[in-house]
Amino acid sequence: MPHEVLALLNQPSADAAPHDEAAPAFAFVDAATPQVSVLDLGVSRGDGIFETISIGHGKPQALEHHLRRFARSAVTLDLPAPDLDAWRSAILAAVEALEPGEEAWVKTVMTRGVEGDGRPTGWVYASQSADFSRVRAEGVSVVLLDRGYRHDVEQTSPWLLQGAKTLSYAVNRSVFREAHRRGADDVIFVSSDGYVLEGPTSTVVYRRGDTLFSPGTGLGILDGTTQANVFRYAEGLGLATGFELITPAELAKADGVWLVSSVRLAVAVTAIDGVARTVDAAFTADLNAWLKTLEE
Ligand code: PLP
Repeated sequence: MPHEVLALLNQPSADAAPHDEAAPAFAFVDAATPQVSVLDLGVSRGDGIFETISIGHGKPQALEHHLRRFARSAVTLDLPAPDLDAWRSAILAAVEALEPGEEAWVKTVMTRGVEGDGRPTGWVYASQSADFSRVRAEGVSVVLLDRGYRHDVEQTSPWLLQGAKTLSYAVNRSVFREAHRRGADDVIFVSSDGYVLEGPTSTVVYRRGDTLFSPGTGLGILDGTTQANVFRYAEGLGLATGFELITPAELAKADGVWLVSSVRLAVAVTAIDGVARTVDAAFTADLNAWLKTLEE
């Protein structure tokens, strides 16, 4: 069985014409062969949306949450609505076709398509995961970086697409280079008016006493699928959960801080801007063990 699988969607959205009237909903193609046109707006402008979904023991995790977020991103970008049934079947088939393993991931991409064509391009790519055991055990040091937008940007300026999972991730990568230049591993974005937002590829979760918090939605940040599961885990332990708008100074006082995301799962924050933090290694390990074995 292959260690990577690629399926192209024939009709990513029911609102647009299929690429081939006679073809099935999706087709497996050689993942090692180029499949996307150089004129595709996803390639030339980063104009499109994506999701990255963890696969634990052959089961996509938080699949419906990811699909809902995919559909919401499409609305924000004025893209045709993804045909979620077609995407779900392509995801499940790709996961099924992938060589079995403990941890894998699947990425769904829908672009605006080739300029002038009017039909989105869509694909599902699945692969075995890298080994994240070290970073899960050791955590990450982070720097706070200004995102340059106010915390209410999603409401005041929706055309900036904050809160949508767009393909334009060049900024989300450049901030890692900035973090490395400053001697850190990862980043927490702060709004221009001074509130904690999210990581470039993760949601911020923190603990104060017996409550786990996260900054929540509506701040131009992603509605995290892993954060939702982390809260489910915490509630199962009898902890309370909540959302609040906080400043970096308040975050610094938290009893524990984590960056949580699909695939890498939960990593403890060991330092913020060079100030070391205590970490609860046992809690992080138990949480990751639970996240890894989620069946849905
Ligand atoms: N925020 C951003 C900007 C992300 O890119 C991601 C995931 O890649 C997340 C948050 C975490 O989302 P999830 O837990 O659904 O993977």
